[in-house]
Amino acid sequence: MAHPMFRPRRLREKPLLRTLVRETVLAVDDLVYPLFAVHGRGVREPIASMPGQFRLSIDELVKEVKDAAGMGIPAVLLFGVPAEKDPRGSEAYAEDGIVQQAVRAVKDVVPDLLIVTDVCLCQYTSHGHCGIVEGGSIRNDPTLELLARVAVSQAEAGADMVAPSDMMDGRVAAIREALDEANLTDTPILAYSAKYASSFYGPFREAADSAPQFGDRRSYQMDPANALEALREIALEHLGERLVGRLAQGRRLADVAALDGPDDAVLERLRLGQNVPQRVDPFADDGQAGERPEQKQGEDEPLLANQVEDGFPGHEWKI
Ligand SMILES: [Zn+2]
Repeated sequence: MAHPMFRPRRLREKPLLRTLVRETVLAVDDLVYPLFAVHGRGVREPIASMPGQFRLSIDELVKEVKDAAGMGIPAVLLFGVPAEKDPRGSEAYAEDGIVQQAVRAVKDVVPDLLIVTDVCLCQYTSHGHCGIVEGGSIRNDPTLELLARVAVSQAEAGADMVAPSDMMDGRVAAIREALDEANLTDTPILAYSAKYASSFYGPFREAADSAPQFGDRRSYQMDPANALEALREIALEHLGERLVGRLAQGRRLADVAALDGPDDAVLERLRLGQNVPQRVDPFADDGQAGERPEQKQGEDEPLLANQVEDGFPGHEWKI
């Protein structure tokens, strides 16, 4: 009788062995807390699609951030809901925009906390799209200039890292160039390299009040059916646009920085799941707290979170 040559089960036999060889571990160090800033004072506006979460005025947001830092959460991701929207999303890159104000306030109170800022226009535009709209379509290249302005204004306010979430072609290169020109060469970029036009973002769109007022995002964000295209998008940004920002202590980010060489090699590594840091998208849930898998009784939360993470290979950390 033929026996299997390889016996991977050997490493699964004992709990401590399984712990030793576990490839993914979710710890508090991995968490980034998304927060939604609004104008006003004393505002804690419940977000219906995210039970237990609130849109917060800056005074309230600062309290929340202090609590988060006290729990050891290393970073927040700030989104803003503007006072007024317009076709070009002006508040997104205003010096006194809501996010820029929030960044300064948080840095005043908890200077060591990492602040990541969402770079996009959709919360700020009257049409709710992530780019400039002309003749009913979303224009790529004119949008790049605005996205770059958003990133620079946030970094100048004190953001530690900027996170473009739009999916315009060439935005990372445009942002990198603008940051460098503004003498912000040390500001890393965390891009949504392969972002799908996904219904999973529904709760986020409600939280950030950023739903498109016409059409949808499918002309710029990816078709969820396309996995190979996701690899291409990721490789394009890793190699084609040569992202070189660094977050020194981020070992998983460092893995990405180490990726170099011909596209084929990167694609192969991506295909094999090697050196491809992944994260759980904070908005990749169905918005129904009672039905979220990690809230089922008796389940192992980190384990389930990791499984969710594995199910979203298109969302990649990168710098
Ligand atoms: Zn957007």
